[in-house]
Amino acid sequence: MRYKVNENCIGCGLCASTCPEIFSMSDEGTAVAKDIDVPEEQQAAAAEAKDGCPVGAIEEV
Ligand code: SF4
Repeated sequence: MRYKVNENCIGCGLCASTCPEIFSMSDEGTAVAKDIDVPEEQQAAAAEAKDGCPVGAIEEV
């Protein structure tokens, strides 16, 4: 699976600290997800980041 950050992101930074291998903060101050299939060993952290997003801005694609 892979993830995408939608326009609801408020730039809180939680996902990037929970799963930095997949999520990072852009120069615009919002998060971006790497456009890759999440490796097995990162799936739990990536799912935690998705579940922890306060505005539901992380979608599975
Ligand atoms: S946790 Fe959600 S609101 Fe916070 S930076 Fe990540 S995508 Fe944006």
